[in-house]
Amino acid sequence: MTDEEREGYLEFLTSRRARILARIEEAARVSGRGADQVEAIAVSKTVGVDEVVLAWRAGWRAFGENRPQELVRKLAGIESHPEMDGVRFDMIGNLQTNKINQVLGRVSLIHSVSSAHLATAISKRAEVRGHSERVLLEVNVSGEESKSGFTPEEVHSEMDDLLGMGGIEICGLMTMAPANDPDAARRTFSGLRELREQLSSESGLGLATLSCGMSDDFAIAVEEGSTLVRLGRTVFDPNHDLVTE
Ligand SMILES: *Cc1c(COP(=O)(O)O)cnc(C)c1O
Repeated sequence: MTDEEREGYLEFLTSRRARILARIEEAARVSGRGADQVEAIAVSKTVGVDEVVLAWRAGWRAFGENRPQELVRKLAGIESHPEMDGVRFDMIGNLQTNKINQVLGRVSLIHSVSSAHLATAISKRAEVRGHSERVLLEVNVSGEESKSGFTPEEVHSEMDDLLGMGGIEICGLMTMAPANDPDAARRTFSGLRELREQLSSESGLGLATLSCGMSDDFAIAVEEGSTLVRLGRTVFDPNHDLVTE
């Protein structure tokens, strides 16, 4: 990017961020909450270190990556930017057990713990390091074959075992909604919230974090109780129209 392109892109990032936050605030009000009860992370998986640095300047403080190797690359690139001290990265994508060590201790939250097998592997590696990793359980609420995650029934039946694992702190639930279907998305998000309520009353656990909502459906997700939206294209791509719904 030339300096001029960089300034233009920073302007876009800044004004887009303001519109996104306003949309989140409006949707939070519908759910009887304040904007301070909803966090947003900027999903930087399709952009480079330059764009992440500009997004920081635009006000974004938390980022999401879906591949360990790319996470490591971004963190290395950011080292030469001391002004970004305190930047937060989350792992949001499918995690293979042989990649766990690249992620442990480097992220604030792993959103994508999609099976008891993966939870066990993270638990073992974190315990070795004397570390506690904050995680979310990814649940396939919509039931689509293509989606990974626990089924709602599995979360119910396996929760006791999961809670007994050392080295992981289960902070809540995560889901992905079917694309291009606002009604199905709404059912998926409200389903996640209801599942959380059932689990909380069964386990006594808070499960405070509900990670759901992406560029095309975050307003619906926040209306249905999301506490953490994961936004990629709508943050970084000038060709993506901000949701108006
Ligand atoms: C890419 C990705 C996102 C962001 O998607 P957008 O539609 O670009 O906002 C959110 N969550 C996960 C798990 C992703 O892989």
